[in-house]
Amino acid sequence: MTGPDTQTLADRVAAGERRALARAITLVESNRLDHRASATALLDALPDRQALRIGLSGTPGVGKSTFIESFGQSLTGQGMRIAVLAVDPSSARSGGSILGDKTRMERLSRDPNAFIRPSPAQTQLGGVARRTREVIRLCEAAGYDAVMIETVGVGQSETMVADMTDLFVLLLAPAGGDELQGVKRGIMEIADLILVNKADGDLKPAAARTCADYAGALRLLRKRPQDPDGFPKALTVSALTGEGMDTAWADMQALTDWRREHGHWDRRRRDQARHWFEEEVRQGLLARLTGDAEAKARMQALGEAVARGETAPTAAAEQMLATLR
Ligand code: GDP
Repeated sequence: MTGPDTQTLADRVAAGERRALARAITLVESNRLDHRASATALLDALPDRQALRIGLSGTPGVGKSTFIESFGQSLTGQGMRIAVLAVDPSSARSGGSILGDKTRMERLSRDPNAFIRPSPAQTQLGGVARRTREVIRLCEAAGYDAVMIETVGVGQSETMVADMTDLFVLLLAPAGGDELQGVKRGIMEIADLILVNKADGDLKPAAARTCADYAGALRLLRKRPQDPDGFPKALTVSALTGEGMDTAWADMQALTDWRREHGHWDRRRRDQARHWFEEEVRQGLLARLTGDAEAKARMQALGEAVARGETAPTAAAEQMLATLR
C-alpha cells in the first residue's frame, strides 16, 4: 500500500467506518513483509485515542460469551461503542479455536455499536500478542469507548492479556464443593474483579458461597498500591438474566476513576508501552535468528555442536549472538 492509501485508510478508520477497521485489522494480522510496513505506517497515521481496555478470562463453559453478550449490550444500551477481541492460545497450538465460533454473541454482533473480531490464526503466542496490541490501537483510534479482550484460562494467555489491559476480570462458575476451583494464585493476583457467574435459579446459593470464598481469599492477598479500599473484589452475576451487570460496571468505573486520579492508570499504560517495545525487540531478534537462511544454518550447527558436547551452551549462544552485532 502506498503512502496516500495508508492515510486514506487511517482517515476512514478514525471516522469510525467498520469496513475500514476490518480491513485495517486484516492488514495488521498479515505476516507479509510489505503488509507489515504498511501496518506500521497505518498505526503511525492514526489519532491517539483511549478506550477502557478490559481483559476477561475464564475456562471454557464458564459463560464468557454469554457474559460479553449481556454486559456488552448493557454498555451499548448506555450509548457506548464497544469492541470485542479474542486471544485464544489453543489456536496458536492446534490451529483450532475455542473462541472463534461465529455463532457466539449473536445479538451483540448485530448491534451497530459493537464490533466483534475472533481470534486470529497465528502460530505463535508472541504473534498473537503483537496483533492484539495493534488491533486494540486500531479500535481505540476508531473511537470505541471500551475494548474487551477475551481469553481462555490456559497457559500464559491470561498474563499476556492482563499486560495489555487496564482492568482484568476473572469469570468463575459456582463451585460444587467448597474448594477454590484450583484457580492459581498468580491469576488471583492479577484479577481486579472476580465475577462468579450463573448466580441464578438453583445455582444461586452455590454462587453466593463461592463468591464469599473468593472474597475471603482476596482479602488474604497483599494490598496492591494501584487499588482503593475494597479492591480486588468478588461479585456474583448472571449473564443469563443480566443481574449484577450494572454493579459490575459501576465497580469497573469506580476502580478506573480512582486509578486515573491517583496516577496509576497512566503509569500502567506507560509500563505496558515500555514492555511492548521490549517485546518487539525480543521478537525482532528471534526473527533475525530464525528468518535468515544463514543465521538459521548457523543456529542449527551450533545446536548440534552443543548436543554433541563439543561446545558449552553459553559459549555457543555467545558465538551466535556475536554474529548479530
Ligand atoms: P464460554 O465457553 O465461557 O464462552 O461459555 P458460554 O457463554 O458459551 O456458556 C456456556 C454455557 O453456560 C451455556 O450453556 C450458557 O447458556 C450457560 N450460561 C452462561 N451464563 C450463564 C448464566 O449466567 N446462568 C446460567 N444458568 N447459565 C449460563
